[in-house]
Amino acid sequence: MSLIVKKFGGSSVANAERVFNVANRIIDDYKKGNDVVVVVSAQGDTTDDLIEKAREINPNGSSKREMDMLLSAGEQISIALLAMAIEKLGCPAVSLLGWQAGFETDSHHGIARIKKVTAERIKNEISKRNIVIVAGFQGLNKYDDITTLGRGGSDTSAVAIAASMKADICQIYTDVDGVYSADPRKVPTAIKMDEISYDEMLELASLGAQVLNNRSVEMAKKYNVELEVLSSLEVKPGTIVKETVKMEKTLIRGVAKDSNVATISIVGLEDTPGVAFKIFNKLAQHKINVDIILQSVGRDGTKDITFTVPLDQGSVAVKALEGMKDALDFKTLKMDDSVVKVSIVGAGMESHPGVAAKMFEALYDAGINIHMISTSEIKVSVLIDGKYADKAVTAVHDAFLG
Ligand code: ADP
Ligand code: ASP
Ligand code: MG
Repeated sequence: MSLIVKKFGGSSVANAERVFNVANRIIDDYKKGNDVVVVVSAQGDTTDDLIEKAREINPNGSSKREMDMLLSAGEQISIALLAMAIEKLGCPAVSLLGWQAGFETDSHHGIARIKKVTAERIKNEISKRNIVIVAGFQGLNKYDDITTLGRGGSDTSAVAIAASMKADICQIYTDVDGVYSADPRKVPTAIKMDEISYDEMLELASLGAQVLNNRSVEMAKKYNVELEVLSSLEVKPGTIVKETVKMEKTLIRGVAKDSNVATISIVGLEDTPGVAFKIFNKLAQHKINVDIILQSVGRDGTKDITFTVPLDQGSVAVKALEGMKDALDFKTLKMDDSVVKVSIVGAGMESHPGVAAKMFEALYDAGINIHMISTSEIKVSVLIDGKYADKAVTAVHDAFLG
């Protein structure tokens, strides 16, 4: 008998038929004598629809507290429906909101971090042989306000429960049957992996492979929670994410695309010490993640700095920097949201020179211009025009893994 945590994404519970499909998968494991805790996301496009409703009320953006109150409602619907379906199929189930399950978070509404999951209520229900259905993506801060964990956050909710209850496995069910070397919906030649290491998965997730939320992988690594990514529609093994995996010959594991990116260019800055500090310190104060940074060579006492930020933080960044126009004394500041970041990931590349060159060659052959480049031991990222995104992913994927 095992303790199994299962998470089902929005598309897996999108309608009544899918809800019953998921209920049956859960019951199969429950009837084998396992304890089952289930985390669910909001049905289908519910979260997007709720965001749209908020926009109708205030196009300039409502307060983050009220946004969290609204968005958390999506998961409240799906947990109740799933519990009802399980009851209808003759098994006992109880649905719990994040706070009832003991999710304590910090107060960063919209992108809250889980501090701890007490899970007392979950344990209590399990001891009564109930199947426990928990609302993903949400928690409670110290002021007893509802928080949400950021888009795709239900994956993290599942891993947090698995870590806190020391579950035997955490299964992430979705609309594809595992982790592939590129998005299988975009790249038909993408290869399914049997296993992938936490580090490589974390890099892929952070660079745009949305199949797992990057924080969930970070947490799984920290607490050594074994993850399996698998299909909610087909019964077959998925991809295991764990600490060490059998080394295969491939030095590139996968290709990822991130569209949530924009560049900000500040032109005509003074070429003196402290300028970069002032800019990036300001952005850090606003909790804006800066990724690739490019600074021009100083000429005639001025220099330019261009960097990337997540697109959804772009307007906050621009506003913060425009507020410093006098202090920084630059000529122009502009944001470009027509770019995407394409990255290759693989732990094997560290000891293999020429990997970046091969990627650039593939892009050159496809006639795609590179605007910015960044590298680490385990990845190479390039920034290109958004319109070439899918072409670039396919070209680079096929150069290494085709
Ligand atoms: P869920 O609603 O179940 O959380 P998501 O839409 O968040 O599902 O994630 C699943 C999607 O991730 C897939 O439909 C697929 O298009 C996309 N995806 C992107 N990169 C990859 C990859 N490398 N492997 C598998 N799926 C990927
Ligand atoms: N419903 C939330 C979202 O759409 C959380 C999740 O799906 O993981 O982002
Ligand atoms: Mg997801």
